[in-house]
Amino acid sequence: MVEVIVLTCPVCGARLEPNTDRCSYCGSVIILKTDHAFIDSRLINKAVIDQRIAEYRRAVRQDQYNETAHYGLGVAYFNLGLYEEAVDELSQAARLMPENPNIQAQLAVILRESAKRGNEDAERRMYSRIETALKLDPHHIETLMLQAELLRESGKLDRAVGKLREIYPLAPDRVRPKLINCLLDWSQDLTKYKQWDQVVQRWEELGELDQDKAKQAMVYFLSFHKRAIPRMVADGALPKSGFVKTLGVGAGILLGLVSGVIVLVVTAVIAFYKEQGPTGWGIALFLFGLVLLLASPVIGGFIAKKRMKSASGVIPEKVDREQVLAGQAPFLLTTKVVQAVIQKLESKAAK
Ligand SMILES: [Zn+2]
Repeated sequence: MVEVIVLTCPVCGARLEPNTDRCSYCGSVIILKTDHAFIDSRLINKAVIDQRIAEYRRAVRQDQYNETAHYGLGVAYFNLGLYEEAVDELSQAARLMPENPNIQAQLAVILRESAKRGNEDAERRMYSRIETALKLDPHHIETLMLQAELLRESGKLDRAVGKLREIYPLAPDRVRPKLINCLLDWSQDLTKYKQWDQVVQRWEELGELDQDKAKQAMVYFLSFHKRAIPRMVADGALPKSGFVKTLGVGAGILLGLVSGVIVLVVTAVIAFYKEQGPTGWGIALFLFGLVLLLASPVIGGFIAKKRMKSASGVIPEKVDREQVLAGQAPFLLTTKVVQAVIQKLESKAAK
């Protein structure tokens, strides 16, 4: 994908450092794109820009087809905040170079600024420029980014994310931060409507791009539902399904109880009947059996829990509630805690 490469400042003509979007001499923002640098009047060398505007104007008076002059004027006016004038000049440049999708896209960016300031016709013209740019180059990254931004702005976050995913392979570094922000906005939106399954999905997608950001969002959510978090949580020990866990532990307890009763019966038989009357050894054995019976459900439950942990295939990593809330739990564990909390919230809501 070809990005816009500018070698000299379109306003003052100074040589530019590679990968920069601001001229270090006149202070102009040189590429007008959706996420262009903030136009900072303190960085702008107005004397230089004014002088260049005068020169470009002279050039245009001599030759109205001077595309460089029209383009330079457009960028200069944009940097001075004169959006309508910038639109006029870039429209002239676009008329002289209609095959250039970059100019179409930059014009769309300025028209958006103009529309934001209440120019009613600008929005329609912006969409028409977007259409033209994509007709010239269907993979034009600046235009596609602008489209995604417009979708995000109008609250169509699902479509904005879809668009950004589509263009992600074209320019991962540019699209990534936008995609992250969009997913964050979308998850917040879904939280409002308590669409928990969807929220968790967004956080998981976010986690694939930036685990820290995703964890931040989840911890923020958890801080509102502190009491629904188990005091201690461990990987693999968190119930995926509460029913399965109860069943497993219940079976363990039952098994312990049955074996305990068998031991008690056998020791009772030995203690009372084998020797024709209780002996010291017999009574000791009987008492041991009794203790075993009382302890058996605990032991059974414990073994069942342990078996379930190892069956989940992860080494249990234990952290307490405070660590989760401080963001110290690993990403995956935090996700599991969130899922457990959401399960609780949902079962509460169902009651
Ligand atoms: Zn410059």
